[in-house]
Amino acid sequence: MDVISMMAKAELFKAGVPLTLMDEWYREIYVEPDVRTAEKEMDAFLAKISLRELMPVLAPYLIANAQEEAIWRTVDWTRKLFGVKMAPTIQMSIAASPMESHFVYEEGKDGEWQLLVNPRLLRDIPVDLLIGVVAHEVWHGYQQQRSLKWQGHSAVEVAKLSSEEKRDLMYALNNMYIIRPEQDREGYASQLVEAEAYLVTNKIRETLAQILTKAYHHGKVPTQMLIALNLTIGKMPICGRFC
Ligand SMILES: [Zn+2]
Repeated sequence: MDVISMMAKAELFKAGVPLTLMDEWYREIYVEPDVRTAEKEMDAFLAKISLRELMPVLAPYLIANAQEEAIWRTVDWTRKLFGVKMAPTIQMSIAASPMESHFVYEEGKDGEWQLLVNPRLLRDIPVDLLIGVVAHEVWHGYQQQRSLKWQGHSAVEVAKLSSEEKRDLMYALNNMYIIRPEQDREGYASQLVEAEAYLVTNKIRETLAQILTKAYHHGKVPTQMLIALNLTIGKMPICGRFC
């Protein structure tokens, strides 16, 4: 049968049953070296970053008490980069871990989502990681935007799905049955939407490091600025299945 019930698949997905079909799609989108559509797309987004457009994004991070403005600018910039039409509201909220920020989507209100940023993030971590964390959350907005295409669908004609539609559906299923960190820390980090978002964090940090290192060697960025931004070159300590 080539038509599957989305809810049935979602139930199976929730129960952790290895789904041959989902595994097939996963391999097609994320593993096949010639395909890997998700990663190729991310690379294409990040290849658009230039020093010229990066400088105004970094500027407010250098000004005392301008960090909320800095977060806003980073959100707007990454939304533009990833083509996220939905605009979030941003709230500063205390979370348990200094690394933590949250993407909160409000069910039923299309286009409305909240970005909860832990104020401790603003003083405890290097700017490239902070930008990476914001990009991670904005990538969840991107996934949500794609998964909304499946809202209201009760059945899917599998045979007719394109690779991109399969990806949209995988986002929709994962978002419908998200694994929360308090339920299962490992399951949380390795689920599709999180693994992807962590990959975005790592990739954007690597891209910033490359651009700024090159700019520094060409005398376009002063040493003081790199020090003031507390920039690091390296990987996030928390990794999903792509790391
Ligand atoms: Zn996340």
